[in-house]
Amino acid sequence: MGRLDNKVALVSGGARGMGQSHCRLFAAEGAKVMVADVLDDEGAAVAADIGPNAVFQHLDVTREEDWAAAIDAVMENLGRLDILVNNAGIAESAPLADLTLESYRRVTEVNQTGVFLGMRAAVRPMTESGGGSIINISSIDGMVGMNNLTSYIASKWAVRGMTKTAAMELAHLGIRVNSIHPGFIRTHMGSSDAKTPEEVHEHLEVYSARMAPMGRAGGPEEISRLALFLASDESSYSTGSEFISDGGFTAGYPNPGVNPV
Ligand code: NAD
Repeated sequence: MGRLDNKVALVSGGARGMGQSHCRLFAAEGAKVMVADVLDDEGAAVAADIGPNAVFQHLDVTREEDWAAAIDAVMENLGRLDILVNNAGIAESAPLADLTLESYRRVTEVNQTGVFLGMRAAVRPMTESGGGSIINISSIDGMVGMNNLTSYIASKWAVRGMTKTAAMELAHLGIRVNSIHPGFIRTHMGSSDAKTPEEVHEHLEVYSARMAPMGRAGGPEEISRLALFLASDESSYSTGSEFISDGGFTAGYPNPGVNPV
């Protein structure tokens, strides 16, 4: 018996990083999964590797017409929709005084508008399926601030707020809505032409060793296990809530007199 038997999940940003990890774990627990991403080759390869319980769908979360097509495809090919993970996200860093409007709009369009469009698109099919679970991926940057990340912080706080409003509106339909707030996780995020993912991960380890009580960065699978709990009926009394998984990063800051950093 899998923990998601007979359920159908759509995961945005499923081609890489945490989204890919969620797709793999959900399928291993019995769900049928739609891997949805702008990265067609990588997404299709992930779905093929998972096997017959996964399909790939091109989805740019900023486009209404892509969401409509994805919902049509999930209902037509997989028959229902029980779980939506609004996971797709991007980050761009700049000091406030240098942050361009284009960059600000790019980040909020994907991370904030994309989550709004995804939640809105899921209401009808989840209602038809008798309810569901929407999991919005925010960040510890939706709990606190961080320098040089104005657009990202704005988008992740917005996700945290929208989650609560949607939870209030959709509870009577049997749809639960919660947010996950990961700490520093080893994925593709932060990498670029100039910096490989491995270089970024090394930096995260050094930073986390100093700043997080658990002294290390996290792995995507550690967030997937939390997403699995929220996707499954085990979290049946949770809605409108924040679930932090960050190695203790936001628990507080070290006392410099006792624990020098
Ligand atoms: P990642 O870069 O490895 O994966 C992000 C995925 O989103 C990629 O597959 C990418 O193609 C996809 N994507 C980007 N724009 C898209 C769009 N417009 N439409 C559809 N798909 C799109 O990053 P990740 O770390 O796995 O990030 C997953 C989520 O977790 C993001 O929302 C991110 O903000 C959040 N998060 C990451 C960390 C971290 O430390 N890595 C921490 C907290 C929160």
